[in-house]
Amino acid sequence: MPDDSAQYWMGFDLGGTKMLAQAYDLKWNVVAKERKRIHPGTGAKGGVERIIDTINEALTKAALNPKNMLGIGIGCPGPIDMNKGLLLDLPNLGWQAVPLKERLSAAFNCPVAVLNDVDAGVYAEHRQGAGKGARTIMGVFAGTGIGGGCIYQGEILRGGTNSCFEIGHMQVMSNGPRCGCGQRGCLESVSSRLAIAAQCARAAYRGDAPHLLGAAGTDIANIRSGALKDSITAGDKAVEEIIKEAARYIGIAVGSVVNLIAPEIVVLGGGLVEAMPDLFVPQVAKAANKRVMPAYKDTFKVVPAALKDDAGVLGAALWAEYSLSKKEKAAS
Ligand SMILES: [Zn+2]
Repeated sequence: MPDDSAQYWMGFDLGGTKMLAQAYDLKWNVVAKERKRIHPGTGAKGGVERIIDTINEALTKAALNPKNMLGIGIGCPGPIDMNKGLLLDLPNLGWQAVPLKERLSAAFNCPVAVLNDVDAGVYAEHRQGAGKGARTIMGVFAGTGIGGGCIYQGEILRGGTNSCFEIGHMQVMSNGPRCGCGQRGCLESVSSRLAIAAQCARAAYRGDAPHLLGAAGTDIANIRSGALKDSITAGDKAVEEIIKEAARYIGIAVGSVVNLIAPEIVVLGGGLVEAMPDLFVPQVAKAANKRVMPAYKDTFKVVPAALKDDAGVLGAALWAEYSLSKKEKAAS
């Protein structure tokens, strides 16, 4: 029999196309779970209803009483107004200024914290993963795009209203490739999977990456992290060089951040790093150490993320617990 009085926190990860709701008991064990797809073209209104349905179904399946939900943390792939709990912009779904906090707290009658999904993942690493016990940690997640987050003295580093730490849009190359944000030479335009896949597709087309050509062809949609890894293992030197160069640029960006805020731990994650940690981690560490001022050399550790797929949803729930409990204490 489920315990009808058991309290829990709800974490929610609003991915680009997939959504995940996970409830956690007070010892951070998963006690409910539900996944749903979200289709491009779903407007923000329908999308919010789908989020609410997903949470309700997770609760129903696990026979959890909605009255015992202490709060919801929801991580979203876009910039957030953290005071108002607004998802400001979600270009791939065409959503703008979505009042998630208002809608979810009305639907579930509990407090809600809205945060950026990469911030959520880095926050989970700070509480339970590779950054435990550090005063400052930063995270770089390299996949289709490049996201970043920073935890400073136990808090998500943020602006007066907005989430921040968009390391993917730090300029690392003057007059470099055009980025989705409209600028040129952003880290994301040089080192994301899409940027790497485009270069590797050209190498394959020229005949410089025969294994990749055979396995994935020259369509960048098919050149996923796993295919890149396999082609390097099979001997495609050109692919290895392209990836080392991309990792070097990530290291340059990391080094610039080390000069600014001196994190002790730099967590690397995302699909590219998960597929090739032995390539990325040392390359980024080497390039970052080359880039920093002498006093900062070897003052930081570059490590792979310790938490895997559900770091984002766990981090959202952990942040809800931290930020919403703190508010309650301040009010009493
Ligand atoms: Zn950019």
